[in-house]
Amino acid sequence: MAEKMVIEEEKMELKKELDKRIKNLNLESDAKEELLKKFLEWYDVGFLCYYCGVVMELKFGTDLSFSIDHVIPRSHGGRDTIDNLKFVCWRCNMTKKDKGVDWFMRNLRLLQERRRKKIRTIEFSKAIKSSIKDKRVQESYQEIFEHIEANR
Ligand SMILES: [Zn+2]
Repeated sequence: MAEKMVIEEEKMELKKELDKRIKNLNLESDAKEELLKKFLEWYDVGFLCYYCGVVMELKFGTDLSFSIDHVIPRSHGGRDTIDNLKFVCWRCNMTKKDKGVDWFMRNLRLLQERRRKKIRTIEFSKAIKSSIKDKRVQESYQEIFEHIEANR
């Protein structure tokens, strides 16, 4: 029960954080609700970058900080619609800016392939965790996954 309350509190914090991030977007109120819903759902499953699948962080200022990206940028006619807005890591967001949308879109398949692999790794890791009861054994798997991740 206490754990559930912590989660609710965390979600309230997330809502506030999201509000800050979207205040400059010209969103319809139902689009805002939809975005919030997605945000909370994604947070529950590990909050993965839409492009590369990395697990994102909520704090500002790191490569893995989450940001909200217009898949088709405003400068290319993209709008503040739910389909055009995705949660992406800062690294992808910057790569997209630096390399340009065309480059990014051409390479998106590659990024998404990485994302799929990453999701498989996470699912595998969760499955192992739930099947192995000994905490030390679980942790040793975690180390392996972190090693794989760091050397990708
Ligand atoms: Zn990313």
